[in-house]
Amino acid sequence: MIIEYVVLHHTGGTDANPLADTSHHTGAMIKDWHIKGNGWSDIGYNFVIEKSGNIFIGRKVGTPGAHAVGRKPKKPEYGSMNGKSIGICMAGNFDATKPTVSQIEALHRLLQELFKQYPTIKEVIPHRWVDPKTCPGKNVSDKWVTDLINLKEVQKLDLSRVSNQELLQELTNRLK
Ligand SMILES: [Zn+2]
Repeated sequence: MIIEYVVLHHTGGTDANPLADTSHHTGAMIKDWHIKGNGWSDIGYNFVIEKSGNIFIGRKVGTPGAHAVGRKPKKPEYGSMNGKSIGICMAGNFDATKPTVSQIEALHRLLQELFKQYPTIKEVIPHRWVDPKTCPGKNVSDKWVTDLINLKEVQKLDLSRVSNQELLQELTNRLK
């Protein structure tokens, strides 16, 4: 499959409490729920970024995922993302809180690596652009998500001029 997109998720709330704190969710827990609870063959996401910044490696990249079915795509060309994207989930409910600095740093590192390995990636989009949800959370703006594609350009620049720290600061500021 050709990977054209990265879809960003959060673990979100629960049916009982949409603002529930789910930042303690780990990749292992989610994998367990997806396999035992949903009866899936594997975790739906390709990566889970835990609160600490630990990156949990989920479903193998390049095999169809189970994270964004495309029930209400913002643009017709988006459709279902499962056969053409990488799904990254950040632990936490960003309808109520914001990602941790460690999570943002880990996301940057992961994306830079993915952009290198999969140059066909053309957009990073929020899950809510393909399904009727708030995912990855009301406190994470569309622009913040789509701007992550700029990390692709950063790799082409002289990295000594754009330090990761500055980039992180800029992206963190946009979240405020
Ligand atoms: Zn989602």
